Amino acid sequence: MIKRCPQHGFFRGEHCECGSAGQLLLDETKTEQLGRLVAGGLRHFPGDLGLEMDSRGWVDLAKLGEVVRSRHRWASKELVIALVESDPKQRYEIHNDKVRARYGHSVDVELDHADNRLPKLYYGASEEEADRILEIGLKSASQRYVHLSTTPQKAWHVASFRTGNPKIIQVDAANAQKEGVKMMTVNDDIVISEMIPSRFLEILATKDILKAAQVPRSN
Ligand SMILES: [Zn+2]
Repeated sequence: MIKRCPQHGFFRGEHCECGSAGQLLLDETKTEQLGRLVAGGLRHFPGDLGLEMDSRGWVDLAKLGEVVRSRHRWASKELVIALVESDPKQRYEIHNDKVRARYGHSVDVELDHADNRLPKLYYGASEEEADRILEIGLKSASQRYVHLSTTPQKAWHVASFRTGNPKIIQVDAANAQKEGVKMMTVNDDIVISEMIPSRFLEILATKDILKAAQVPRSN
């Protein structure tokens, strides 16, 4: 659900970090409905909703407000803003009356986030997938960019939803970028990348992942 704290603005869940119960704006069901619609419009099928998206993924916020209102009578531009600002995954951003998804596109966009600065990045895959990736390189079949994780543990976590015992592929991001592969920082967890040739990839031994997992997390 989405609520508003009089002092700290929009938040998800029962209470604001300050302890305030806040004012309820959207219950769980409506938050999900609005979230699905906004994801569709900003990541997957803007044209089907009558939205014009520029090459960087930006869409007019007022127009998106009209679109969500035409689908759900209770929805509005203000609730889109609340959804964006309260999102714990920072999926979207608003700038100059425009809104876009920061990652997760299946439509063709050329994003312009800051260049990745981490020397190593990680991707989790099933054993069969991992073998194939090491042969042909890493790219996404369904998404515009490959989504990489910033630590082996995060990659493991993401992949564990899809496969039982994920293999973790380590990406030599520093050298790949030096040779022209574009990689961009989305947030503390995710870096998105153009196709990565196999020479920058290697399977990480499980014991290295376990060793890394013992390092205390910084959140
Ligand atoms: Zn508060």
